[in-house]
Amino acid sequence: MKRLSTISKKSVDQADHANASTRVNPALKTIVSLRDAARECKACDLWKDATQTVFGEGPSRAKIMLVGEQPGDQEDRVGHPFVGPAGKLLVQALEQASIERDEIYLTNVVKHFKWAAAAKGKKRIHKKPRYSEIHACRPWLDSELRVVKPEILVCLGSTAAQSLLGRTFSVMRQRGQPIKSALAPVVIATVHPSSILRAPDADARHLQMQAFVNDLKIVAEFSRKAKAA
Ligand code: SF4
Repeated sequence: MKRLSTISKKSVDQADHANASTRVNPALKTIVSLRDAARECKACDLWKDATQTVFGEGPSRAKIMLVGEQPGDQEDRVGHPFVGPAGKLLVQALEQASIERDEIYLTNVVKHFKWAAAAKGKKRIHKKPRYSEIHACRPWLDSELRVVKPEILVCLGSTAAQSLLGRTFSVMRQRGQPIKSALAPVVIATVHPSSILRAPDADARHLQMQAFVNDLKIVAEFSRKAKAA
């Protein structure tokens, strides 16, 4: 028998992933049916403290799929992705890059809000999902990719990028560059809009927003080429 130490991490991940994938019924062929099924998901513990599953939204034949990390506080309350402060900033950036909202499908690698109570008050503080939680949720993202089949897949932030492109992927080094991947004809990573909200001052925020819009303009250009093809 092959000793465990001789099995590569990659092959373990692939085997785990294949097992996890069996959870999503392949007969579910629409985003609506997948969203309904995901409402009942208890494949990791994140459902316990969240209000609801926040599944992806957008046209099921969208050319562009944007993938973030997880729903935030407001998304958790209303049940829609990217409706909080980061989502509003994303909408502004998409407008500046001339990407129409109806061209995109918006989702996250994790579908439940992970949070911890603030030391004081009732605020819920975002907590980064663990690898095991991202892994448990991956079949839902794979099912969205299977249905939408985007021409351009955009990873927003390092959690999404490392989940989809490997754990050594660096958004800072590789942002805005097309990455070779089997996930979509064009795959690009950029920052998560929430990182712009954390900029230390107005000047830094302006520069970070400009860089984000520039990355999205590259996405817009690929989208124009895909439409023309
Ligand atoms: S985070 Fe994903 S895998 Fe975990 S319970 Fe929610 S939908 Fe299921």
